[in-house]
Amino acid sequence: MRKKIVAGNWKMNLDYQEGLSLLSEIVNMVKDEVIGNQQVIICSPFIHLHAIASLAKEVDNVSIGAQNIYQEESGAYTGEISAKQILSTGAKYVILGHSERRAYFGESDELLAKKVDVSLKNNLTPIFCIGETKEEREAGDYFNIIKSQLQKGVFHLSSEDFSKVIIAYEPVWAIGTGLTASPEQAQEVHAFIRKEIEEYYNAVIADNTSILYGGSCNPKNAPDLFSQADIDGGLIGGASLKSRDFTDIIKVFN
Ligand code: 13P
Repeated sequence: MRKKIVAGNWKMNLDYQEGLSLLSEIVNMVKDEVIGNQQVIICSPFIHLHAIASLAKEVDNVSIGAQNIYQEESGAYTGEISAKQILSTGAKYVILGHSERRAYFGESDELLAKKVDVSLKNNLTPIFCIGETKEEREAGDYFNIIKSQLQKGVFHLSSEDFSKVIIAYEPVWAIGTGLTASPEQAQEVHAFIRKEIEEYYNAVIADNTSILYGGSCNPKNAPDLFSQADIDGGLIGGASLKSRDFTDIIKVFN
């Protein structure tokens, strides 16, 4: 059975102490919850990784991830951070393909495929983000965009490697805008993604892949979104910065 996942993306927020405090609050709030077949993942800035990975050891089902890696394994790349270095902090996941990295840092599908490869090679699990812009949705072009992002970013992987990947559907028009995709809009795309995975790999792999929704997800809209057949949880931005909101979203699955 595929995992239910609630992942937080802190983006470039919180100083060192604030990050530690937030993680401690989350750990305390989920400590007594039975979260069964559910994984909670916090993707923080690099500076927090080691400290919060140590704090997260206190609870089962809470893991830590980064928000980026460099595509090479080591070497003279001043200022960059490798997959292996991230793994050595105790983090196990990395967000790749986020629309902010695609748009502001010019990360192409080809570059992202390399980052996916290097993360898997170093036992870091990619949370691979895909999603269309407002213009692409309005032009009715979103299925093609999503299909192309999947093909170029992750469908080159072997079945064994692809089985480790988590997919996040994040419509760009819903990120940080307060405009959430309706449960029906999100479900339509999630079902499409699962169908594409089935066509490229097989039905078992498609059925086992966790596909998360991201974009203005909050405690109010999460229950309807997460009850859709192909939505296996969320990738949460703004609401992951408030311990109460984030833990309320985690509890949606209980
Ligand atoms: P918001 O939840 O703030 O819209 O951000 C979503 C996101 O980009 C998560 O990666």
